[in-house]
Amino acid sequence: MRATDDTYRHKGLRRKLVETVRSKGITDENVLTALENIPRHFFLDSAFDEVAYEDKAFPIEAHQTISQPYTVAYQTQLLEIKKNDKVLEIGTGSAYQAAVLAELGAKVFTIERQKKLFDANKNFLWIKKYHNIKFFYGDGYEGLPTYAPFDKVIITAAAPIVPLKLIQQMKVGGMMVIPFGSGDVQVMKRLIKQADGSVKEEVYDRFSFVPMLQGKKD
Ligand code: SAH
Repeated sequence: MRATDDTYRHKGLRRKLVETVRSKGITDENVLTALENIPRHFFLDSAFDEVAYEDKAFPIEAHQTISQPYTVAYQTQLLEIKKNDKVLEIGTGSAYQAAVLAELGAKVFTIERQKKLFDANKNFLWIKKYHNIKFFYGDGYEGLPTYAPFDKVIITAAAPIVPLKLIQQMKVGGMMVIPFGSGDVQVMKRLIKQADGSVKEEVYDRFSFVPMLQGKKD
């Protein structure tokens, strides 16, 4: 069961979480405000109510995770979201990252390969307040050619390769933030698409994500 009540206690814990994330080096005030506005405990089973505002990843259905708030803020800050940016997210999971992007005014197109998680978001009433999030059940390696090109792409699972189709679906000048690598630890990269279709690569810190897998799962 999900919690649906956002109490003063939750709001207080959220303010503390924002300060923790800030102290770890996140400087984009819009990103920090988005974190402050979103009741993260709504995205978890009520069993996690006590810990929902710790800066940690937690398990969700289908052996997947809701990312750590710091990681969500880090990837979002790198994306430099502008209002009305078209953003493709790979790995909807709990939809927390999608909500952060939606708070920033992006038009979010998010894909999940696990049917169970896709269905869970269909029944998540609170998330429907974001008319700027569209949910898709599919394989993120394929992207969404019908809705391309995108200003930004964010991958929220560990990618063993740079998915070529996703680069093709980006605008020139567009950016992809991708946790790259197949081992236990990945390196965050930002890829900026050049006019000739190649990408300029920037390398950031190390993180640990669940793997980006091929194909859909029933
Ligand atoms: N953005 C999520 C993080 C979820 S963890 C959040 O905020 O909670 C990563 C998610 O990526 C998992 O739900 C996993 O099922 C999904 N995933 C892995 N490979 C995928 C693929 N090829 N296409 C779409 N989703 C994928």
